[in-house]
This record gives sequence, C-alpha cells and structure tokens, in this order.
Amino acid sequence: MDPELGPLEAVNHPVVVVAGTSTPQTAANPAAARLFGFRFRAGEVKPLEQLVGADAAATLSEFLRALPQHGVGASLRLQCVTPAGERSLAVDVARTPGEANSFVLTLRAEAPLTGMEALAQARATLDSLPVGIELYDRHFNALFYNKKSDDLFDYSDRPMNNHEDWWELAFPDAKRRKAARAEWRVITRNAARDPGRAYMAEWEVTCRDGLSRAIQFYYRHADQGFSLVLWDVTDQRRLESELREIARTDSLTGLANRRSFFERAQTLLADRRAAKPLTVLMIDLDHFKTVNDTFGHSVGDEVLTAVSRRAQVALRKDDLLARMGGEEFAVLLPGTGPAQAAAIAQRLRRAIMAKPVMADLTVTVSIGSASRRPGEIEIDAMVARADVALYAAKTAGRNCVVSAETMELR
Ligand code: GH3
Ligand code: MG
Ligand code: MG
Repeated sequence: MDPELGPLEAVNHPVVVVAGTSTPQTAANPAAARLFGFRFRAGEVKPLEQLVGADAAATLSEFLRALPQHGVGASLRLQCVTPAGERSLAVDVARTPGEANSFVLTLRAEAPLTGMEALAQARATLDSLPVGIELYDRHFNALFYNKKSDDLFDYSDRPMNNHEDWWELAFPDAKRRKAARAEWRVITRNAARDPGRAYMAEWEVTCRDGLSRAIQFYYRHADQGFSLVLWDVTDQRRLESELREIARTDSLTGLANRRSFFERAQTLLADRRAAKPLTVLMIDLDHFKTVNDTFGHSVGDEVLTAVSRRAQVALRKDDLLARMGGEEFAVLLPGTGPAQAAAIAQRLRRAIMAKPVMADLTVTVSIGSASRRPGEIEIDAMVARADVALYAAKTAGRNCVVSAETMELR
C-alpha cells in the first residue's frame, strides 16, 4: 500500500508519511521536499533510501519495526545523506491511526556542530577514556593532555610545557632517570623512523599524588609530532607480584617453599668464579607422626608453625629457611663452611627443643648438613649428601646433627 499524505500535504512543516518497514516507501509534503532538495509532485512516492540515504534508511526501518503498537510515538536523531547533501535531522515518529505499518514523520533540521562544538565533543570523549593521551609537536612541546594524563602528571606548581619538564618529577632518583631517558631516546628515535607503529616503554614513575605507579608509555610519531598513550598497569603488576610471592611461599608457615629454596640455591651456586662456601642443612622433626596421632593434625600444624618461628629466630639475616614439605625443613647458609655450619645447626637444634612448643609438648629435630665442594654448582648433589647425613642422624638416635663431611655424630 502506498503512503498517502492527505491533509498533511498542506502543513507548512516538513512531514513524511512512510508505508512499510522492509522496503519503506515515502510521500513527502512540499516542506519536506524542500528540506531533502527535490521538487514536490503531488502523489509522488519515493523509496525511503532515496530520501535519507542507505544508512539512515536502515536505522529508521529498524526503529519503525521496534515502535510499540500503541502510545504517543518516539523521537530519534538521524544523520542523513539527502539529494541536498548531508543533513542532521530530528525526527518525531507516530503511527498513522487505524493503518498498520504506516507512520508519520515530522522533521526538524538540526544545525550541524560548529568547529568549537565538535572540538568540545572530541575533548569530552578523550577525557572520558581510561588511558592518558598526550600530544606533542616534533620538539616535544605539549599540545594536549587529556584528563587521565592530568590525573597522573599534573604536578602542582610545575607547568608541563615540554616533555623535558616531566623527567625530574617522575624520576626523583637521578640514576633511574638517566636510564629511562636513555631508553626514551631510543624509543622516540625508532618511533620517528616508523610512524605506523607505537613504541612502548614501561617505567615505574612518581605521579602527582607522590605515589609510584607502573605505567606503559606508547610513543607514536604522527603529523610532525608525537602522540603518547599512557596505560596504568600498576594493579596488574601488583597482582603478578603477589601471585609470584604466593607461588614461592609455604602457606602454613609463611616460609619459603621448596621451589623458592632451589631457586635461591641455584642463584648462589651459579657464579662459579665467586666460589664461596655454602652449606645446606636438612631438618626433620623427630617422631612427628606421634604428635599427630596423639594430639590431632591441627595441633601438628601449630607445632610446625612454632618450630619454623624458632628456627627463623636462631638464624642469620642472609640464611634461607624453607619448608620442603611435611615436617621437613631446609636451610641455606651462604658463606658458611662445615665447621661454622655445625655450630649453627647445633644452635638451631637447641633453640627448637629449648622449651615446650605447647603445654608439655617438646619436639626435637634431627639435622643433616652438607657443604659445597670446590667448584660444585649443582644443588641436588648437596641436598642428597645432606639427606644421607640426616638419615644417619635418625639412625644414631635422633635429636642430633650429622655432617656429611665427617659423617660423625655431633
Ligand atoms: P622420624 O623421627 O623418623 O622422622 O619419624 P616421623 O614420625 O617424624 O616420620 P614420618 O615420616 O613417619 O612421619 C611424618 C609425619 O608428618 C606423617 C604426617 O602425618 C605428618 N605430616 C606431614 N605433613 C604434615 C602437615 O602439613 N601437618 C601435619 N599436622 N602433619 C604433617
Ligand atoms: Mg620426614
Ligand atoms: Mg620426622
């Protein structure tokens, strides 16, 4: 069914009647014909697409399909491509009473955005972004900072007119500043040579609030200058470091775990030239199964925690105490040879049994000790020797220290 204007033809305001929603046909009154830039002919019907362009026609068809059967109608704003050029139109839509799939569109041309308005709109959009955006000319004079950039680096009483002004505040430490600037020179030089790509550096920088943040800086050469995008990855990095920490910690005692023990040992042994002494102690609680069987597993856990605290206190700052699993602990004693290690092991053994860990429950430990052989770089062999020594300590009656070097009971 063709759209019909009826008395709307006489209305001195742009009105279009639309029939159908799949391939909508239109009848425009004389005021609407003027708006769209064609001559009015009474009874003429045109496809909607011819009036407003394909995109606007698709948007409008979708809108008409979704329009409720009853009610006062609805409005939308359409960006149209008309025979008269581009038009921004405010459209009020109502269903034609008593006719299915027929609609009356009342149109109002909206003024296109002025340059200033468009700029303000663009600025508002940039300010709403969760990343910092900065624009510079080729000498790194600042042209634009968005809000996120200001939030990070709008330091009080220090105008940032050039990228240069920023370094001292972002990097209070001169050495770190120097390193970052060297990296920056390389990155911006590469960016200038390859404008299609952003070049990134990640730095830990001091922000306007005095806090340190991990920020990724993406430099890109554009239009005779540089754009810089700032991406705050502080939360991400913090989470990563927490996860790394968890992966290296024993959850019951808070000590280093087995993995952490081997990592540290391998680092200590890696430097072959600086062949410093190193001793490994393997520590195993005596008759611990009896503790569990008598008092229950949770008391057993408390004993493990108490023992680890005592051992930690008896050691030096650079020594690494780790829980290797179950009721077995290990210690790395850097810079320590067999004789000194034997004394430390004895101190450890005594500290653990010095007084009851709870009520009248006293625990003892057996300790096996093994020291680095000249040029030795594998921790596994040292641990194996310390285990043999530990086994010897158990066989010898427990609550004692055996050194692999002498395999003598102490
Ligand atoms: P030994 O003197 O020969 O070392 O005897 P032991 O009883 O200490 O040795 P054994 O290896 O037979 O038993 C170790 C016990 O440690 C058995 C196990 O139930 C207990 N155990 C291992 N891990 C944990 C833990 O995380 N919590 C508690 N409460 N007990 C644990
Ligand atoms: Mg054991
Ligand atoms: Mg045991």
